[in-house]
Amino acid sequence: MNTDTPITLDSWLHNCGLPRLEARMLLQQVLDISHGYIIAHGQQLIGSSDQTRLNQLAQRRLAGEPLAYLLGWREFYSRRFQVTEAVLIPRPETEHLVESVLAHLPEHGVVWDLGTGSGAIAITVACERPDAQVWAADISAEALAVARTNAAALQADVSFGQGSWYQAQPQPAVNSVDVIVSNPPYIAVHDQHLQQGDLRFEPQHALTDNYNGLTAFQTIITGAAHFLRPDGWLLLEHGFDQGETIRTMLAQNNFSQIYTQPDLAGLERVTQGQRK
Ligand code: GLN
Repeated sequence: MNTDTPITLDSWLHNCGLPRLEARMLLQQVLDISHGYIIAHGQQLIGSSDQTRLNQLAQRRLAGEPLAYLLGWREFYSRRFQVTEAVLIPRPETEHLVESVLAHLPEHGVVWDLGTGSGAIAITVACERPDAQVWAADISAEALAVARTNAAALQADVSFGQGSWYQAQPQPAVNSVDVIVSNPPYIAVHDQHLQQGDLRFEPQHALTDNYNGLTAFQTIITGAAHFLRPDGWLLLEHGFDQGETIRTMLAQNNFSQIYTQPDLAGLERVTQGQRK
């Protein structure tokens, strides 16, 4: 769009080339206004520097950049999480994983979120269950910085550790954890989805193990018994076609009560097992 001519809010919304909702989200963010304000003041003119900024963001969105990275946040479980290119964008499916943690966590229980990314799982659990002792690990210092920012903004009491899975430091005591939870990189390296949509812009190490999509599960499942209390639970998010493999891996590693929960689309998404 021509940035020399001042245009109105309504006119930008209609002409920027983006779906209406996305256009509105960008407009609200850049101008720091509400949806109601846009409805009431649709004829207000946009200043030229704001218009330049809006058009740049619209161009980036049209080129495929995820809206969440352009806005700098995504809502998860009714809370706003800061996201940057260092972390996976929280997905609605992962709310099932949180529900499962909440259902399995005893009072004053200990939770460990492995590969926390933005911190969405750990922080949500800490906010929903202030009695819980919540730990979160990530190998990426950049991701941990985002997670710490989110924990501070949401006043969540989470202990963060840096390192690969169970090597993260600091970490909870051996045999002390009630629930280990993870949404690890589970996409196989040759899966075409990595070349599509938002995934092209997300950190590849958060999406794929650069192999068959199962190596993180292998590490997490085989190492869990060392940290879980007897009768503690391991809860995993996985791909729609990985449920049977995960159930087999859990059975081979002495877990019981193995069960896979479908997501809202009816796809196998979250599998749980209890340490015998
Ligand atoms: N659910 C994500 C997707 O398919 C993948 C997340 C992950 O690898 N943990 O878009």
